[in-house]
Amino acid sequence: MNLPSGTYDKEADMKTIGIIGGMSWESTATYYRLLNQRVRQQLGGHHSAKLLISSVDFAEVEVLQRAGDWDNAAAMLADEALKLQNAGADFIVIATNTMHKVAPEIQATISIPLLHIADATAERLKRDGIHHVGLLGTRFTMSQPFYKERLESHGIRVTVPEDWHQDIVHEIIYQELVQGEINSHSRKQYLSVIDSLKHQGVDAIILGCTEIGLLVQQHHTPVPLYDTTDLHAESAVNMALSD
Ligand code: GLU
Repeated sequence: MNLPSGTYDKEADMKTIGIIGGMSWESTATYYRLLNQRVRQQLGGHHSAKLLISSVDFAEVEVLQRAGDWDNAAAMLADEALKLQNAGADFIVIATNTMHKVAPEIQATISIPLLHIADATAERLKRDGIHHVGLLGTRFTMSQPFYKERLESHGIRVTVPEDWHQDIVHEIIYQELVQGEINSHSRKQYLSVIDSLKHQGVDAIILGCTEIGLLVQQHHTPVPLYDTTDLHAESAVNMALSD
């Protein structure tokens, strides 16, 4: 491309991010904003992210999750990833922590890379010298091995809330956050779960569900928070702008 002299031409090489979104769209909207803001911060001027979004109907995903039908969930999301690849995406971002349960099946279906949300998060934790984290997310993310083990493979120790706290965290995600409902009583409940994890010795908390950042932000607590939506978006922009 011929650019006027002095024009930064990084955009000519910018990669196209393929987002599997809609899980829920409340957080996909946050991804869309963050990706564009970060590209603008890095490239300046009128720059914005090159991206494709394939947004699913979350009701269909939620039914499969509740039924434990991960095979069909994997098939559904692998199909979305393939559509994004065929449409020209250079790499894939799954805009939810929970559905990384089927990340291996999705990656096996496509030939472009998948940027794993737990890797993006772990990289930042390591850079910040955090070794022991408390993990908040859906019950699937907190109680099943797929997410904790990925973090542990980076040398990070993971503590999850006790059982009845997991119920509270999970229910607020499905009954409120993915439906765009933010309420201060639920925030108080989250903050007491965070305090209880802090008392168990964690150095920081991972907001391991892409909607939690809509409810709890750093100014609500002195305990350091690592928001996976933010870290995933940051890592995706770095990947999009790398050579
Ligand atoms: N967005 C959420 C997550 O990050 C929960 C919704 C879902 O199950 O995908 O896990």
